[in-house]
Amino acid sequence: MPNTHPVSIVIPVYNEEENLPRLFDEIAQAMRPLNRTWEVVLVDDGSRDKSVLVLRALAAANPEVRYLAFAANRGQSAAFCAGFDAAAHPIVVTLDADLQNDPADIPAMLALFDQGYDMTIGWRKKRQDTWSKRIGSKIGNAVRNRLTRESVRDTGCSLKVMRRDMLVRLPRFKGMHRFLPTLMKMQGATVAEMPVNHRERYKGVSNYNNWERAVAGLRDLFGVRWLQDRHFDYEVREKNR
Ligand code: UDP
Ligand code: MG
Repeated sequence: MPNTHPVSIVIPVYNEEENLPRLFDEIAQAMRPLNRTWEVVLVDDGSRDKSVLVLRALAAANPEVRYLAFAANRGQSAAFCAGFDAAAHPIVVTLDADLQNDPADIPAMLALFDQGYDMTIGWRKKRQDTWSKRIGSKIGNAVRNRLTRESVRDTGCSLKVMRRDMLVRLPRFKGMHRFLPTLMKMQGATVAEMPVNHRERYKGVSNYNNWERAVAGLRDLFGVRWLQDRHFDYEVREKNR
């Protein structure tokens, strides 16, 4: 794809009221110097704080902002998928709302994507998380790579760039956001990794703990392995119309 394709930045939001204004400012600072059209699609996943009010205000003040709000909490994967569906542009960038990902990394991620990849993923080389979360993530990545026969350094990094046409064809299930590289590769996507910045959560609280993540992740991992083993491709040799 030539590097003039417009970009939709998709962000899941659950109780992030204090992070949203700064998040948008940092994204705008990163995107405005680039010579391409962009939008942000913020998906409120049934927040219980004032996130939706903040989204309304941001959308009223900035033409680049689009938002949608779920009727109830459906989880991060559902929020991402709703954003993929709503995205107006062929290239989708994803990141978290809590400012742990650094929007200043987006231009370099796009530049790598523009070299001809279908997906670029961030690798949080210096994690700014608790010790237990860092260990949990290390073990998680190792087990996942083993079972899916892969070598992705950091699937948990939300900062990614992907082709929207591929994203909307992925199998959808709770927790699928942790397996996006594998699911994209099953569709033939070429994937590149790149070190990115990682910061402490700006405001608010984390939504996951190691134990829940491990239990849910392991269950999903067996599902993904099953999907891999049962995957098929086909080639059409001839058709009339
Ligand atoms: N999130 C969401 N729905 C949920 C849980 C989380 O949309 O049910 C969003 C959250 O607002 C954030 C991202 O998913 O933008 C990652 O969540 P969090 O920062 O809590 O995860 P952590 O970085 O602690 O692993
Ligand atoms: Mg976070």
